[in-house]
Amino acid sequence: MTASTGDQLLLAGGGHSHALLLRMWAMQPQRRPAGLISLINRRSTALYSGMVPGLIAGLYAPDEVAIDLRTLADRAGVALIIAEITGIDRHKRLLLLQGRAPLPYDRLSLDVGAVSPAATSTDAGSTADLKPIKPLEPALAFLSQEDDIARSQRSEAPPFHVLGAGLAGVEVALALRQRWPERRVILQGRPGQPAAPFRRALAKAGITLALAAEVAPGSARPPRRHGLNCTGSRAPDWLGASGLPIDAQGRVVTERSLEVVANPGVFACGDCGVISADPRPASGVWAVRAAAILARNLSAPEHQRPLTAWHPQRRALQLLGGFRQGGPTAWALWGPLLLGPHPWLWHWKQAIDRRFMARFQTLPAMAGSSEGNGAGRPSAMLCRGCAAKLPAAPLEAALTAAGLDAFGASPEDAHALPGCAGPVLQSVDGFPALVSDPWLNGRLTTLHACSDLWACGAQVSAAQAVVTLPLASRPVQATLLSQTLSGVRSALEEQGATLIGGHSLEARHPDHAPASLGVQVLLSVSGTPPQRSWPKRGLQADDVLLLSRPLGTGVLFAAAMAGATPPHALDQALTQMNRSQHPLLDELLHLDATLPGALHAATDITGFGLLGHLGEMLGSTPLQVQLDADAIPALPGVLDLLHSGYASSLAPANRRAWSLLDRGRDRPAAVALKLGTIAAGSDRHRALLELLVDPQTCGPLLIAVAPKLADRLLKAPPSAAETRDHWRRIGTATAG
Ligand SMILES: Cc1cc2nc3c(=O)[nH]c(=O)nc-3n(C[C@H](O)[C@H](O)[C@H](O)COP(=O)(O)OP(=O)(O)OC[C@H]3O[C@@H](n4cnc5c(N)ncnc54)[C@H](O)[C@@H]3O)c2cc1C
Repeated sequence: MTASTGDQLLLAGGGHSHALLLRMWAMQPQRRPAGLISLINRRSTALYSGMVPGLIAGLYAPDEVAIDLRTLADRAGVALIIAEITGIDRHKRLLLLQGRAPLPYDRLSLDVGAVSPAATSTDAGSTADLKPIKPLEPALAFLSQEDDIARSQRSEAPPFHVLGAGLAGVEVALALRQRWPERRVILQGRPGQPAAPFRRALAKAGITLALAAEVAPGSARPPRRHGLNCTGSRAPDWLGASGLPIDAQGRVVTERSLEVVANPGVFACGDCGVISADPRPASGVWAVRAAAILARNLSAPEHQRPLTAWHPQRRALQLLGGFRQGGPTAWALWGPLLLGPHPWLWHWKQAIDRRFMARFQTLPAMAGSSEGNGAGRPSAMLCRGCAAKLPAAPLEAALTAAGLDAFGASPEDAHALPGCAGPVLQSVDGFPALVSDPWLNGRLTTLHACSDLWACGAQVSAAQAVVTLPLASRPVQATLLSQTLSGVRSALEEQGATLIGGHSLEARHPDHAPASLGVQVLLSVSGTPPQRSWPKRGLQADDVLLLSRPLGTGVLFAAAMAGATPPHALDQALTQMNRSQHPLLDELLHLDATLPGALHAATDITGFGLLGHLGEMLGSTPLQVQLDADAIPALPGVLDLLHSGYASSLAPANRRAWSLLDRGRDRPAAVALKLGTIAAGSDRHRALLELLVDPQTCGPLLIAVAPKLADRLLKAPPSAAETRDHWRRIGTATAG
């Protein structure tokens, strides 16, 4: 059979097969099918299972075992969508996602792995506290919490149970012994489990082996067990619930080509799929080996060739970590043959695992093209988001030449619409796509545009959008537009605003893959201010300067293009950027009504960075701002990247704002940077200066308020600081 055609391919799940597929396309772009390809995964990283027991044992750091899917997708020309998949609508050919619009597909490839089935009470006594080993990430977080118990109570800590004495259970139990040398570890298995060599190793490691039936003999109400459930694996239920054919373990049944039986254009591999004619157990080995055949069959329609059948070998070598104290060891299994334990086998296993991970760390640099940008700079390396704005100097020159210098002289964030009955503020903003997920990009652009109005004290009530789409097929353009607009709507509706109109445009130049990076969104937002809209230039002596969130998005995205930003740092930045700041505005409006006139000036920090926007706030006032360097917040990872020399492509132009820090001998600096604990001229000092000019997308609000209002705003406890924005005191204004 030939695979179905169409140019929207969804890769559901960032499992081992899909990670290798992406790597293949990054190394050989000519093998990537044409059209829009998107990878959907619940996280930006995927764990390499072969090294997970070593991670549990403490032999590897988390970064060493995590595949960075975002960088991989970028290099492969694939859009990355971080979302939870909840099902498939096979008739409408839609992949259903939690909390956002579904994604249409022509072809769908499933590599979502498996989960540990729920333990039954006969297996484990009361199972309330048994955490499933799969999915891995929550299980690892659970073990981190357990570390405190093991550390504080040492041998007194309650016993830790591992349910399931298969290979995974044995390996996990031995890894836990290495992790907690003094805590009692009990492995619960079925009669005859595990094989004698493993029993000996467990006994030597001081791990108690208990038969599930012996755990609570004759007990009417079995005691609660605390630990991990490592009993087998099951494909996620939503696969079967979607109407796909499944086997007893819930795995999707496929032909030898990996195409799902009776479902043309849908493929399944790894732990969530099974070839009906040649089933293999759920194991990473088969997920890895499926990648080559999947790559071939996903590109089959373009080459007008039939799907290729896969004949996996009958068995595969398995290497199992032993983690003996005093030096790790391992076993080798080949069918019924068992070799070891021996330290050499561990070295062999480690070399194989490290080589596997190294394949994801040596990716080609991002393709760059200076074509058409007229700047002689590779366009792929130019920063996106708000860093894609014109620098202040050419912008001012152009405004002056156009007879619009008034804009430069009075740089408000939003403007009153003339001729309206009541006060209506309006602003416009937008940029080339910052992220390859069009829905998220629609949200980020909207939140960024709204912050101009929030900075004036106006709640956003309506918006119009102009969306420029890349040259692509009509179905791809329709997907990009609908995803973008539903992202825009979700950001507007959560603050009670409405999208009232807009236009679409088609670009006139070809774009790089993925096509979603060719989307440009521009939004005009309008809303009603309070009685008195907050000016940008109203700073008064003794004002306290408050900032609503940490800085650093510019450098994080710039360094990400070089693959230098740690995935978790970008994740945290995106979580912050994706959060609307309208609740802060609501709180400010409430306090502004109770303490009228105490809020003197406000702005949002965007393309010119903190210092550039502070300069706009200061204007020609004789006041001086004292910035407390120790208090200026940076997102995780930002100072390290700045220190290593990474910077947004807009940062060099923004550095002209450093002149505010030093106006020469005859005039005091407009901004005095109080270094506090930071040594002058130190690396930290240099990184901080760069942070001050880092352009921000969805950046913080900056307000200048009377001390009594600052006290009220700072009194609100920064509870759950990572999940909500809150004010930080970063400096004061003094009378020059
Ligand atoms: C402790 C332990 C040790 C193991 N050691 C080995 C070993 O040494 N060698 C070996 O071959 N196998 C090993 N395995 C088995 C191995 O983990 C799996 O067989 C392998 O990970 C399967 O790969 P996969 O590609 O099917 O999916 P996975 O590697 O499980 O990846 C699936 C991906 O899909 C994502 N995902 C899942 N559901 C959703 C959703 N609803 N929405 C969005 N994203 C989703 C997940 O976040 C994940 O990134 C081990 C298993 C365990 C538990």
